Amino acid sequence: MIIDLERRINQFYFSKKVFRPTDISLYVWDDIVPIRIIHRNGSTQAYTIKNLRYVFLDRTKPLPTRRVEIAHEIGHAILHCGNQLQVDITWRLKQEWQAQQFAFAALTPAHMVYPMIHVGDRCDRLSFELAETFCVPVDFMASRLDDLRGRVEMMCMDHVAEKIEDYVFMR
Ligand SMILES: [Zn+2]
Repeated sequence: MIIDLERRINQFYFSKKVFRPTDISLYVWDDIVPIRIIHRNGSTQAYTIKNLRYVFLDRTKPLPTRRVEIAHEIGHAILHCGNQLQVDITWRLKQEWQAQQFAFAALTPAHMVYPMIHVGDRCDRLSFELAETFCVPVDFMASRLDDLRGRVEMMCMDHVAEKIEDYVFMR
């Protein structure tokens, strides 16, 4: 599911001419997802009413945090339907995990991040630098790097280059 998600986002971004981290604007999702963002002071919350996702976004949070919150909600709007409050807790946790995976892939696409990871990079410094590059919080970037490194380590080294090429040149 995750690799498929990454591929789809890669293809979608390609079609929207999103090639670099600075090109990543969450507005590109407007065409395909019914979501309304309402800025307010107070914690971010979201509700689905008649298939439209309303996001009450805490405007006092820093931009990187707001980007993650919006991406997470876009993930729910794309991947899930119905009212989350009405589904059981196990299913809900799974949906939360999926929405988070969507936020990772949408804000820090694997095909952009992989070429920026090098053997021997210091994890904390890399998280800090890439958080700046992708305009996301440092802890979000650190989790994403853990996630991607885990996947790279699971693959045989011969296949890694192939995999990266796959991501970079995917249409
Ligand atoms: Zn959620």
